[in-house]
Amino acid sequence: MSAPDSLRVVERTIPEPGPGQVRIRVEACGICHTDAATVMGAYPGLTLPLVLGHEELWLKRIAN
Ligand SMILES: [Zn+2]
Repeated sequence: MSAPDSLRVVERTIPEPGPGQVRIRVEACGICHTDAATVMGAYPGLTLPLVLGHEELWLKRIAN
């Protein structure tokens, strides 16, 4: 989300995992009611851009 009422898919740089972190591949994720309310402006004052979609459905560990 880069602006209110604007939700789109974008490519982002993937950082290398640090110590104690793993990289996962998210094959699919959902958008929940809170995400939808965020897009519609229910939570003013958020720092944008914002990555929504924390309802991951399928994860695969691909690196340490
Ligand atoms: Zn949620």
